[in-house]
Amino acid sequence: MNLLMIYPAYPDTFWSFRHVLGFISRKATFPPLGLLTVAAMLPASWNKKLVDVNVTELTDEQIAWADLVFISAMIVQKDSARRIIHRCKGLHKTVVLGGPAATSQPDVFAEADHFICNEAEITLGAFLADWDNQTPRRRYASEQRPDITQTPVPLWSLIRFKDYASMALQYSRGCPFDCEFCDITAMYGRVCRTKSPQQILAEFQSLYDAGWRGDVFVVDDNFIGNRRRVQTMLAALIAWQKQHKYPFALTTETSINLADHPRLMRQMHDANFHKVFVGIESPHDESLRECRKTQNTQRDLVQSVRAIHRQGLQVMGGFILGFDSDPDSIFEAQIQFIQRAGIVTAMVGLLNALPHTRLWSRLKAEGRLLRDSTGENTDATLNFRPRMDKERLLEGYRTVLATLYSSKHYYERIHTLIRSYTPTFRNRISLRDFMAGLKSLWHIGVRSPSRFYFWKLLGAAACRRLSTVPLAIELAIYGLHFEKTTQKVLLQAAL
Ligand code: SF4
Repeated sequence: MNLLMIYPAYPDTFWSFRHVLGFISRKATFPPLGLLTVAAMLPASWNKKLVDVNVTELTDEQIAWADLVFISAMIVQKDSARRIIHRCKGLHKTVVLGGPAATSQPDVFAEADHFICNEAEITLGAFLADWDNQTPRRRYASEQRPDITQTPVPLWSLIRFKDYASMALQYSRGCPFDCEFCDITAMYGRVCRTKSPQQILAEFQSLYDAGWRGDVFVVDDNFIGNRRRVQTMLAALIAWQKQHKYPFALTTETSINLADHPRLMRQMHDANFHKVFVGIESPHDESLRECRKTQNTQRDLVQSVRAIHRQGLQVMGGFILGFDSDPDSIFEAQIQFIQRAGIVTAMVGLLNALPHTRLWSRLKAEGRLLRDSTGENTDATLNFRPRMDKERLLEGYRTVLATLYSSKHYYERIHTLIRSYTPTFRNRISLRDFMAGLKSLWHIGVRSPSRFYFWKLLGAAACRRLSTVPLAIELAIYGLHFEKTTQKVLLQAAL
């Protein structure tokens, strides 16, 4: 059996870092972790090839070689996925679609032959059994949540490490919170399921043995969703990182209550975590209560962010505009909050109703849903009727983005961050990072209109603490990407 696995293109988004991948000579930010994991669940006797169209072109010869095509897609990749399915069907191939898009919007992919919905640990096995018996059904779905201690190590041999800026691993699935707009809990439940410490260490070891060094994103929905277990796992990971001389710099996603647990933050720092993405959403308490983001209410959010920064964990924040409870002052409040907290990487999006979320059901019941979501976080096309005047909301959104990503405000946030943040210097600067630094001197320090801010930042970082200079350069490089994506969103929001 020849199996061709295809990962569709994702658009130029805030998190794609597409405009700065050239600095480190990489083609995409993350590998297709879902497909690599599914590959490891398939019969060893199958011949497997993987084409990630974000890093290479898909050819007709590759499609012709396949007896079966597997595609995995998120909603944001649906346009590319549909084009690929159409192309494969044109070459008379059987196409199996999996991933979040197959689960939440199967109707969009009418040309696909089979759908592996929900979590593959359960539904893939049923498909394979039926495939063997030549009686495959169109759709495989299950509400059952699998025990992920049985999930295999991803099949890294299917990708080329040098195409990617970071590797990805998953330790847990699910989140105990219940934010109204979130599709994570709808898909993976509110009980946080974890892998065993031995299992996740085996995954780190597999990456290490395969030769990867550098960034690894632990792509959990909420890494601290089960605090007791994560602390046990971290104790083992700290020892492993130390023994292997800290080969991996780690990033993950957590809820803001991480700030309430100094020991846990210290452990994450000791395990070589450098960055955490936190959904902050809004500085307006009423809006947080409306979406049931209760863990963010009744706290000083700026102080919480600073507490995390002080432990050497840089906060990247997610923010939302368009809640029913947002007052007219919300735009200025968001700007002030993000600047004061020193959240350099601040992704601000309009509220979006994703399929099967409680928000989606409420808006539908209220007759306010307009269309399917594109799944893009910074999509300026609202898919529901907001309570605030739509034009006012879009104008406010444009103001927030244009202000936050102006050179002045962006570099001010880096200054704020390096004043409160203590970077850890366990990892040697790789040749690749060194070259990226040199390129930045030319592209930002000489050619960019932000050069004045850039040199001022480098001077301040060098005077304050030399070890903050690499961080300052890294963030200045990211700034080029955010500038481009902001321009794109501003154009879209103006239409
Ligand atoms: S904390 Fe994050 S992952 Fe958890 S329910 Fe809220 S938005 Fe979803």
